[in-house]
Amino acid sequence: MEYARIAKPPAAEMPLRPNLADYEETRRSWSWERVRRELDGLPGGSLNITHECLDRHLKTARRDKIAMLWEGKDGETETYTFAQMVAGANRAANGLRKLGVEKGDRVFVFLERVPECYFTVFGTLKLGAVIGPLFSAFGPDAVKDRLADSGAKVLVTSPDLWARVKDIRKDLPELEHVVLVTRRHPAGPEGGVLLWDEAVGSQSADFETVATDPEDFSVMHYTSGTTGKPKGAAHVHNAIVGHYATGKHVLDLHEDDVYWCTADPGWVTGTSYGMFAPWSNGATSLVYEGGFGARAWYSLIEKYRVTVWYTAPTAIRMLMKAGDEAPQKHDLSSLRYTMSVGEPLNPEAVVWSERVLGLPFHDNWWQTETGAILIANYAAMEIRPGSMGRPFPGIEPAIIDDDGKELPPGEEGNLAVRPGWPSMFRTYWNNKPLYDSRFQNGWYITGDRARMDADGYFWFVGRADDVINTAGHLVGPFEVESVLIEHPAVAEAGVIGKPDPIAMEVVKAFVSLNDGYEPTDQLRREIMAFARGKLAAAVAPREIDFIASLPKTRSGKIMRRLLKARELGLPEGDTSTLEED
Ligand code: ATP
Ligand code: MG
Repeated sequence: MEYARIAKPPAAEMPLRPNLADYEETRRSWSWERVRRELDGLPGGSLNITHECLDRHLKTARRDKIAMLWEGKDGETETYTFAQMVAGANRAANGLRKLGVEKGDRVFVFLERVPECYFTVFGTLKLGAVIGPLFSAFGPDAVKDRLADSGAKVLVTSPDLWARVKDIRKDLPELEHVVLVTRRHPAGPEGGVLLWDEAVGSQSADFETVATDPEDFSVMHYTSGTTGKPKGAAHVHNAIVGHYATGKHVLDLHEDDVYWCTADPGWVTGTSYGMFAPWSNGATSLVYEGGFGARAWYSLIEKYRVTVWYTAPTAIRMLMKAGDEAPQKHDLSSLRYTMSVGEPLNPEAVVWSERVLGLPFHDNWWQTETGAILIANYAAMEIRPGSMGRPFPGIEPAIIDDDGKELPPGEEGNLAVRPGWPSMFRTYWNNKPLYDSRFQNGWYITGDRARMDADGYFWFVGRADDVINTAGHLVGPFEVESVLIEHPAVAEAGVIGKPDPIAMEVVKAFVSLNDGYEPTDQLRREIMAFARGKLAAAVAPREIDFIASLPKTRSGKIMRRLLKARELGLPEGDTSTLEED
């Protein structure tokens, strides 16, 4: 179904001239090489992410500009200029080098969103080592799997997080050092660990960045685990070219912006867009250690005068659930541009934010593997609610069939991209065969299904594994879920195909309700009728179950494979990224 388009904002009403206002022309004349020349580079053709994000600003007036506005979970605040960020990264690099970390070694960081997490990331990259950020809510098995698979040499964590997982150490022969950040909790009496203040804090604030090749590994991120066991996608320093370019043209960052990305560095959005894109563009970035809370989030936007905000559908749906009045209690007038990523963004969410916040969320699409945004709704462009937007300049996506043949506009198929963009992953760690299998007939196969309209807007249908085959129709769960959440009682919906002897599969929906609604048969019939009124007969759900909350990954994505496994009484598979209530 089509939703009303949101017209491109009149130029006069835009506070700044948006980047990419001349999309067609920019796309035609795009050159990654030219973007690379906007960066600094290091002698001899070397390129280093930390240098581009931090050090290069020290030669400019940005030296004393605030890079990071930090607010802790208990309300404490700290600010760091670009010069102070460099000093923090340099101390970390010196400390890690003393511990024997060399180019190519893996350093993992398992911390909450505290400044030391950021210093560790940039210090590791300066040293030419590979950084692997882990989400702080992980349990022992998730941490162990990732450290073992990557062969990590050093883990930077905190006493409380370490206490949660320390039994894993005996299974990690390659893990030589554990460094504890004691900003909140003193370290316990046990030995075998080092303290950040001693190993890092006392080090020199000068460090000469290692001359990394653009193709040297930089960051490794395990995928979200939405469809199965998380895979370790390894990226290279050249990815910064993509982060910088998308930071400028998709995040639309300008010199005076205060930008807030709500993602945790444990997921690729929290590094690519929580650190690399804003800082390579010299913007001020807010880092909030605390978790989601509608009131807390609106207060932060008001307090820090956030101008550009990047978040995820799951958070937006929670804000919607918190009510239309909540934002009215805050002065959110600083906000000028809002974006979303991670899951399909239901059109209802775009329409809601346009109505309640006065700004529509701009959806964009990418993956851990792609390293940076590849398809987006841009600040200067009309939004088609429900669409992921149009390709980034320099990116060539297409809809192809299973033989690699390009399909015409309007037809649904596999979303694929011509390989070779700068931030593309270079392997799955320890799984080259799986990596190779993702490249076929000259395309990178994303694993998502989509279609493109005649104007080049891409529309997400579903992950290939989630698409439902019912009576000869292929149904994407997103379309059905988007209609269900338009019903006033429905907060969230997850849709699966349930095996059926006649239709092959039937569409089954799991819905969670907004406060004030009771899960009755009457309501079930009502929602069913509502969906039938908006969807083709074959597509509307045949069954609806009420569920208190949907199973989600810790990065907030609905795990349809778990809904299905539970429905069918099958094993649940890898649940290391499952969010616990
Ligand atoms: P795994 O690969 O382990 O199953 P995952 O695919 O969820 O997990 P990520 O790399 O974090 O891991 O997520 C990328 C995926 O998220 C995309 O392939 C797509 O399915 C989904 N996604 C991201 N952004 C969007 C979007 N704007 N619209 C629709 N889907 C999106
Ligand atoms: Mg994936």
